[in-house]
Amino acid sequence: ANLDPADGDLAYELDRAHVFHSWSAQGALKPLVIAGGAGCEVWDYAGTRYLDFSSQLVNTNIGHQHPAVVDAIKKQADILTTIAPATANLARGEAAKRILARAGSHFGKVFFTNGGADANENAIRMARLTTGRDKVLSAYRSYHGNTGAAIVATGDWRRVPNEYSRGHAHFFGPFAYRSDFWSETPEQETERALHHLERVVVSEGAASIAAILLETVPGTAGVLVPPPGYLQGVRELCDKYGIVLIFDEVMCGFGRTGEWFAWQGFGVTPDLITFAKGVNSGYVPIGGVVISESIANAFEDQVFPGGLTYSGHPLAAASVVAALDAMESEGIVENAKSIGAEHLGPGLAALAEKHPLIGEVRGLGVFWALDLVDDPETRQPISAGLMGALKTALVSRGLLPFVADNRIHVVPPCIVTPDEVAKALAIYDEAFTEVESTL
Ligand code: PLP
Repeated sequence: ANLDPADGDLAYELDRAHVFHSWSAQGALKPLVIAGGAGCEVWDYAGTRYLDFSSQLVNTNIGHQHPAVVDAIKKQADILTTIAPATANLARGEAAKRILARAGSHFGKVFFTNGGADANENAIRMARLTTGRDKVLSAYRSYHGNTGAAIVATGDWRRVPNEYSRGHAHFFGPFAYRSDFWSETPEQETERALHHLERVVVSEGAASIAAILLETVPGTAGVLVPPPGYLQGVRELCDKYGIVLIFDEVMCGFGRTGEWFAWQGFGVTPDLITFAKGVNSGYVPIGGVVISESIANAFEDQVFPGGLTYSGHPLAAASVVAALDAMESEGIVENAKSIGAEHLGPGLAALAEKHPLIGEVRGLGVFWALDLVDDPETRQPISAGLMGALKTALVSRGLLPFVADNRIHVVPPCIVTPDEVAKALAIYDEAFTEVESTL
């Protein structure tokens, strides 16, 4: 494409003059200007290319500008760009059918939302209405979205300035590398985290708890792959106390872990699944709740008191259909799995051997985190200044990283190739070498 650097300058000026950004003090922001993208790359108006190992906000699972998805959006735009949710729409029905086919026979219906946060809002609402209880338990190390109940369900710092509503309590999930339970083995971590969770359930009043809401693999909190047996144990607690189990698969779903749904790799089935991001890689905003047959049936006669103007928006639904079909026919989920097992996992482990700043490598599929520490013994997180230096070193070498606290999340699109992984690993290696040389 013809790129004009003057457009880049204009985009930057307009942004700084008029656009209010998420999660930030506005004054010091210097947003990167992106002109276009394809596959695992994006570029600016000067033609500088970046390997996107962030997948933006971990959502471009199919990569940038997949032609089949772009084409489906164009075709649907010619047919019908918008229609009320109360109507029946072909693209919407086809999208729901495809999502349910991947979730399996336990599930009966899909409720579409605009994104991940409102998917969690509505899953919580369904759990409350079907149990007649109001409390929601979720993990401190979690992010569930930036709306009423979703932000109060969130465990990380973003909850605190938004905490107005009642009916939420939190617990510590398993995290062996920084164990809250003094565990020395994954088995101890599972056993003690489950003991703690049951104590919270009982102490909060089991009969008042509608749902346990859990990211199957907590993402923003650090790609915290649950130890063996943990999710089974949570399922058993939910069954024992009549609690609805909601797995938030907004970030970990649709290929990220090398499975269609992350829970399928752990052999535990929830009652409700929330999704967004990877379902259509965010080409048009959409999210939703996959609802178990029995919870869906509860609303056969009872009114569901929830809805959204754009629920099942045709442009978004058409992009879901095309994205899921392309992921299937191109083996994109399988690619994520083998890239993790054969390239990213071993490559990042080798990087950790070489660089003392990397305290732990954890993850699966195309969902990895490097936990960066001052000293491998104390596991003290590295400073924000050092994280900033690493980010600069990566971007200056043409890699877009996902940076959170003291971690780099290595989260490329599910279509990433072995060559792109090798290129990224070389850039991480150089960036660590540069920053470590200053210590
Ligand atoms: N749940 C999880 C696990 C997420 O990672 C996110 C976003 O990062 C959300 C929910 C919120 O999704 P959205 O930003 O689409 O509302």
